[in-house]
Amino acid sequence: MRRTLSLFNTLTRRIEPVVPVLAGQVSLYTCGPTVYNYAHIGNLRTFLFQDLLKRTLRAAGHEVRHCMNITDVEDKIIRDSQGTLPADATNEARHGAMKALTDRFTAIFLEDLDTLRVQQADFLPKATAYVPHMIRLIQDLEAKGLAYVREGSVYYRIAGLPQYGCLAHLDREGMQMGASVDADEYERDSATDFVLWKATKPGEPWWDSPWGPGRPGWHIECSAMGMELLGDRIDIHSGGVDLIFPHHENEIAQSEGCLGHRWVNHWVHGEFLMVEGQKMAKSLGNFFTLRDLVAKGVDPIALRYAIQSNHYRKVLNFSFEGLRAAENALKRIRAFRKRMEGEGAAGGGPWKEAIDPRVRLERAREAFWAAMADDLNTPEALASIFTLINDLNAQDDHAALTREERDATLAFLDEANDMFAAWPREEASLDAAVEALIEARKAAKFAKDWALADRVRDQLRAMGIVLEDRKDGSTGWRRG
Ligand SMILES: [Zn+2]
Repeated sequence: MRRTLSLFNTLTRRIEPVVPVLAGQVSLYTCGPTVYNYAHIGNLRTFLFQDLLKRTLRAAGHEVRHCMNITDVEDKIIRDSQGTLPADATNEARHGAMKALTDRFTAIFLEDLDTLRVQQADFLPKATAYVPHMIRLIQDLEAKGLAYVREGSVYYRIAGLPQYGCLAHLDREGMQMGASVDADEYERDSATDFVLWKATKPGEPWWDSPWGPGRPGWHIECSAMGMELLGDRIDIHSGGVDLIFPHHENEIAQSEGCLGHRWVNHWVHGEFLMVEGQKMAKSLGNFFTLRDLVAKGVDPIALRYAIQSNHYRKVLNFSFEGLRAAENALKRIRAFRKRMEGEGAAGGGPWKEAIDPRVRLERAREAFWAAMADDLNTPEALASIFTLINDLNAQDDHAALTREERDATLAFLDEANDMFAAWPREEASLDAAVEALIEARKAAKFAKDWALADRVRDQLRAMGIVLEDRKDGSTGWRRG
């Protein structure tokens, strides 16, 4: 049976059913990372929400074709990669320096996703591999009168597109039609003609183009890769709420200006993350990457659960207390799972309030799916699991559940785990935590942060894990 999910659509401001253009096949585009640094837990919240969305669509019986781009050319990447090069460095050397930085952080990013059990996208295109597609798209916009050239840069003419502002619900009166900006990021009260192609400046890598040497703007990257890999009609496009404007508004302008029809049916955005009630900022000392948390002994799967057990459209207040609550919740589910694997320990004999476990299980499964299908209401979906745990534990104390009842319960826990990916056997989870710590230590050594590397080794020792550095540079481990 295929289930229909409903999601809040930023475009219409309503919760609407996802009806794919091709029945049973959902195309999903999610804006990927700009790879110049470690992803912080606010970024990771968005990727975890999208993983839950994708897994839920799949569990609901849909095929999902998922494309996530890697932004590997962008202002901050250029700023951080070109500093050590001489002023007269060749263009080839500049591209090489950019690639060295982005390759390194792409690998780190994918490792982080792996640690968090985020399933990899079917398409993972790098922006630098699609520059010819971007140039063709800009030429098309130029031919349609939606783009103009100024001093070697090309800008989008927002006055030319009646629906400009539809996603961010902008007031067209307030827009500065005709003013043009070179920055990729700006505030919604200064909606202006935005840059599609940037003329090269001294010290930057460049590509040849019909407008002279330059490089793509950030927004055109996603339009070009999304249209090339997922097509002219995409079912779901997703990102964090910070991408609604200007990034996604500008993607709509570029793609719909070129196609002449609606490009994306459902725009789905995940909310921000705060840390202990404050905005995350390096200056406040509450800025965390996954590796920072792992080095503090946080189990990545507890982090995954802590994030996913909150509704994706509510601001999430991350706290260490919340993480402990997540660990306890997972312990309960895993202990219950273990009990269902066993034979039960009934002792009390017939009980006057005996329940029919089949009915309770069916009720829990229905409640779980109803909540997930209703805009991914994870708090309610998980509540149905805990109600089931209470019901069946109480029953099993008095009259043991049959093998069939236990197996049906395990099947439901596994079905839910296909989405949450958080409660396999405890052994496996401990292994994952150890592997994550070993990775964190490797990264610390790579960054020559010896103090951090030592702290992680001590942490592992406290968990009873002995590390063995091998001759080939890899690290093995055993329980000491
Ligand atoms: Zn994007």
